[in-house]
Amino acid sequence: MAKGVTPVQAADGLTTRQRRNSPLVIVHGGAGKGKSTAAFGLALRGWNQGWSIGVFQFVKSAKWRIGEQAALAALDDVHRTTGQGGPIEWHKMGSGWSWSRKAGTEEDHAEAAREGWAEIKRRLADETHTLYVLDEFTYLLKWGWLDIDDVVATLTNRPGYQHVVITGRDPHPRLLEIADVATEMTKIAHPFDKGQKGQKGIEW
Ligand code: ATP
Ligand code: MG
Repeated sequence: MAKGVTPVQAADGLTTRQRRNSPLVIVHGGAGKGKSTAAFGLALRGWNQGWSIGVFQFVKSAKWRIGEQAALAALDDVHRTTGQGGPIEWHKMGSGWSWSRKAGTEEDHAEAAREGWAEIKRRLADETHTLYVLDEFTYLLKWGWLDIDDVVATLTNRPGYQHVVITGRDPHPRLLEIADVATEMTKIAHPFDKGQKGQKGIEW
């Protein structure tokens, strides 16, 4: 297939420019490795385009993802000091959610997830970012912490030019229905199967 040629020619009357600028819902699911890695790869491309990027990381403990978080923070720094690229914000749920932190109380993950989603909704309504990385977001639906109707309606009706990438195993079928890009990572092999441990640069 020639570069830039799509297999289906849409009869929607849109110009090439309009077709090149359509906001996407992107889902990286499946049990193989690479869902989050690919999402952060997209963030790198978006940063280079000068996009405002919001990363919302669910579920994983504070120890995780130090590699990409540090790298994206450095790129945010580059943006603020030189104007190159775009701004990047990184938000963790749980104790990391600055707008939901309740010092001294037991962490209620479901409540933190709902508050995190409420913040994402506010930002989508305000058109705060061009790219949203909702890392490990599928579990919030899987565990019934969020209402799938609300998530589907919010994503479907989001205004403006906002891409949303969602990662995690077992994405809800209705999420896959509304996805413009849905990719399933299939495990063929993984070093953990041979008893190997996670290693720096590969896992964090
Ligand atoms: P990555 O962050 O490396 O892109 P991922 O987002 O696809 O991975 P997660 O389900 O978020 O996968 O799990 C992250 C961690 O679990 C990583 O340490 C990864 O190596 C490990 N992992 C991912 N897939 C598998 C698998 N099929 N078997 C064992 N471990 C896995
Ligand atoms: Mg992941």
